[in-house]
Amino acid sequence: MPSQLLCLNALCASTYAVEEVIYTCPKCGALLEVSAPTPSLDAAALKKTWRERRMSNAPLDQSGVWRYRELLEFVDYSRDRVVTIREGNTPLLGAPRAAEYAGVYALTFKHQGFNPTGSFKDNGMTAGATVGARLGMKQAACVSTGNTSASMAAYAATAGMTPIIFLPHGNISFGKLAQALEYGALTLQVEANFDQILALVRVLAEKEGIYLLNSVNPFRIEGQKTIMAEMLDQRDWRVPDWVVVPGGNLGNVSAFGKGLRELKALGVIDRLPRLAVVQAERSAPFHAYFHSDRAGDFPAVRDPETLATAIRIGDPVSWPKALREVTESGGTVERVTEQEIADAKAVIGASGIGCEPASAATLAGLKKLVAAGVVDKSADIVGVLTGNVLKDPDYIFKYHTGVLKTPHGEPIKPTFGNAPIVVPNDSERIAAVIQEHIAGL
Ligand SMILES: *Cc1c(COP(=O)(O)O)cnc(C)c1O
Ligand SMILES: [Zn+2]
Repeated sequence: MPSQLLCLNALCASTYAVEEVIYTCPKCGALLEVSAPTPSLDAAALKKTWRERRMSNAPLDQSGVWRYRELLEFVDYSRDRVVTIREGNTPLLGAPRAAEYAGVYALTFKHQGFNPTGSFKDNGMTAGATVGARLGMKQAACVSTGNTSASMAAYAATAGMTPIIFLPHGNISFGKLAQALEYGALTLQVEANFDQILALVRVLAEKEGIYLLNSVNPFRIEGQKTIMAEMLDQRDWRVPDWVVVPGGNLGNVSAFGKGLRELKALGVIDRLPRLAVVQAERSAPFHAYFHSDRAGDFPAVRDPETLATAIRIGDPVSWPKALREVTESGGTVERVTEQEIADAKAVIGASGIGCEPASAATLAGLKKLVAAGVVDKSADIVGVLTGNVLKDPDYIFKYHTGVLKTPHGEPIKPTFGNAPIVVPNDSERIAAVIQEHIAGL
């Protein structure tokens, strides 16, 4: 059956063709999602096909997203051009030091920072850009200073669409913006705040035929759901007890939940792992809502703050989807401080793995959930690291040299600090420094 776009509001429940250029329900404004796939193959044949494709040199098979294309039925593979830069294919890494830090026997990281532009945004963007190209769009746009703009720029450029990035004037994060500039994005700094710009871009998109690749784009969720398919494939379909992931706009956890439910419906797995979302303390509206009676409105945070800028989101667009997925999986939501994120990040770094600050919320949150008795120390756990260590070198240098401060100016202790040491040009003195270092390990 061909895919449709479904309105998530049960009272509306409108359906639309995937060819329509809409991002939310035109009737009621609710989020849209792509209908579940109904592949022609059974579970055993799907597993066999997906595994065999790892031997193939065909571009679609080499992509860790499109290898699982039976889950992505909104593309006409006989006709549409798939926009891929071989995203996905990210490793599962055993992390004994991080496990010990969290207080569990074993921990595996699914490291999405190994993607072409260095974050899991690529898993979604390949799907969004493919749809944009199929719709004949000439420009693609997003409002973001972060990994979304870096990824969007790369995928739009690959698709032959002009990438356009909108950002609030005077609010620039250089590392990620640099990627967008390099990938050729027209970068517009608008003299307005984030919400005003979002409203403006929506009007522009409709008038000028620009394809919007913001977080609400339902096809990005479709691409990201294959992260769970790839993770399970790498584990020979053994379902973990927990999947832990940082939450900002909550698109990723929504995608994971949808993907896992679909794999279960197809008989590929027989149970769901529990999903744990971790937010930064001052950007944690979903944590507050999840642990409340949920009677009132969603408690958006007006001025979200965290040095983990990828999860600095006060009003996450995908919270209704995330709530459904976390609830249905029997999962939970945790929140962590800036100090906890910074220390967890250094532990992941010292393991030889490394990640960007938002990713470290995964380990910091797991440690808390174990201490609270929510996650058992013998549980089978996959922690998702969302971005590459090189995304935020400034943070790293400041932490290790003891000058990192929270957005409120409170100092962050370099618990696992590793500052460079100036030494004289003297082999004996240097040998002594090395001996002292080794003795201190
Ligand atoms: C976007 C992003 C997040 C947050 O993901 P959501 O889907 O918005 O919850 C976390 N970490 C990194 C590195 C990101 O780029
Ligand atoms: Zn609707």
